[in-house]
Amino acid sequence: VVSVQSVDTAVVGAGPYGLSIAAHLRARGADFAVFGPPLATWRAHMPKGMSLKSDGFASSLSAPEPGGELYDYCAEHGLDYHPTDIPVPLATFVDYAMAFQRRWVPALDTRRVAKVARDGGGYVLALEDGERLWARRVVVAAGVSHFARTPGALAGFAPGLVSHAADHHRFEAFAGRDVTVLGAGSSAVDVAVALAEAGAKTRLVARRRAVKFGSPPTGRAPSCWSRIRHPTSGLGPGLRSRLACDAPDLFRLLPIDARVAIIRRHLGPSSPFRMKAPFEAGAEVLTGLALAGARPEGSGLRLSFSPTHGGAGYEVVTDHLICATGYEADLDRLEFLDADLRARLRRVGAAPAVSTGFESSSPGLYFTGLAAVASFGPLMRFMFGADFASRRITARLVAERRA
Ligand SMILES: Cc1cc2nc3c(=O)[nH]c(=O)nc-3n(C[C@H](O)[C@H](O)[C@H](O)COP(=O)(O)OP(=O)(O)OC[C@H]3O[C@@H](n4cnc5c(N)ncnc54)[C@H](O)[C@@H]3O)c2cc1C
Repeated sequence: VVSVQSVDTAVVGAGPYGLSIAAHLRARGADFAVFGPPLATWRAHMPKGMSLKSDGFASSLSAPEPGGELYDYCAEHGLDYHPTDIPVPLATFVDYAMAFQRRWVPALDTRRVAKVARDGGGYVLALEDGERLWARRVVVAAGVSHFARTPGALAGFAPGLVSHAADHHRFEAFAGRDVTVLGAGSSAVDVAVALAEAGAKTRLVARRRAVKFGSPPTGRAPSCWSRIRHPTSGLGPGLRSRLACDAPDLFRLLPIDARVAIIRRHLGPSSPFRMKAPFEAGAEVLTGLALAGARPEGSGLRLSFSPTHGGAGYEVVTDHLICATGYEADLDRLEFLDADLRARLRRVGAAPAVSTGFESSSPGLYFTGLAAVASFGPLMRFMFGADFASRRITARLVAERRA
């Protein structure tokens, strides 16, 4: 297939950011196309039975008019909802977001974009079936899954032996097997609980001294002083999180080293309190140990760990290792972007540098979501940032088109 159509703006990715941007572009009557399987990260790359980390009020896509929030969906379908006190099941969020797509972005093209390259005054996109499209502007909203990070020592192992948490949605295939999870964050805890529930012999090994959980609910409303010290925000309570939500433009004024440090440290690994009991009941937990080596043994792997805070090392033979070792915005992992184009882009660390309008140093090429974290800060790691990003990007695209 080689038909070449053209469009003013192409949006790559149909997760919370891509769908929100598309909904706003459609409401402004823009000439655009949006590509990708809807909500693929949420439907195939997260543990099926998990609940969201974000509060109900911070778990919506951005609609151009009232009526498109999770709250509206739950009210319409008679589902339990509370802005902060009822966790949002993954299945409810996915149903809501798919309904959002059908209502606000009905013309989604579910094909993946295989290639984006610079072409004259715009970009040429190759879709997965070979069809080509020319776009004057491209918004990359390709989300988190390209950025899954695995320790270098584990490169080259077959996926049957070593995988990333993002490779799994269901865990039944691990029933009766010995599985080791690497990591201490909420993804590691969710995966360990899902493995144990599926009947795997589960062990979690973490570099930190302890796996951290949030405080238990007190059942009392927070005091006035506590609300001042820990104000509510879309990233959870806390002054820094509130600043990240209310003033993402300030982040870009910080020196680059400070930005990199904040992205790494803000909201360190911690799980909701409700996960503590099922985690402790289901998994063997070994902390203060860093992966030192891995080699095949029998049909599994021998893993060796060295102590991070003193004490003895540890060795274990396991059937499978799942790395819940997070995500890192690294431009070079976006392999669908032409290598020459990637090489020419200005960066902050490994991530693309973007302007206040989310535009990269290649005119007409925009990045949003996790890819824009080095310019707009921690807000970009959560869907709560989709409202800010989609309004800002749409306003710039529409204004530039008029000019
Ligand atoms: C286990 C886990 C739990 C999380 N829990 C929360 C939470 O509770 N609350 C929260 O706010 N955030 C949470 N996050 C972070 C969450 O992933 C982001 O907030 C959210 O997904 C950002 O939306 P996005 O559209 O940028 O990315 P994504 O949801 O990753 O969507 C990107 C989309 O682009 C598509 N795509 C990628 N490449 C292409 C291509 N070449 N062509 C076409 N399409 C493409 C993908 O298939 C995907 O559908 C969690 C992350 C993980 C891993």
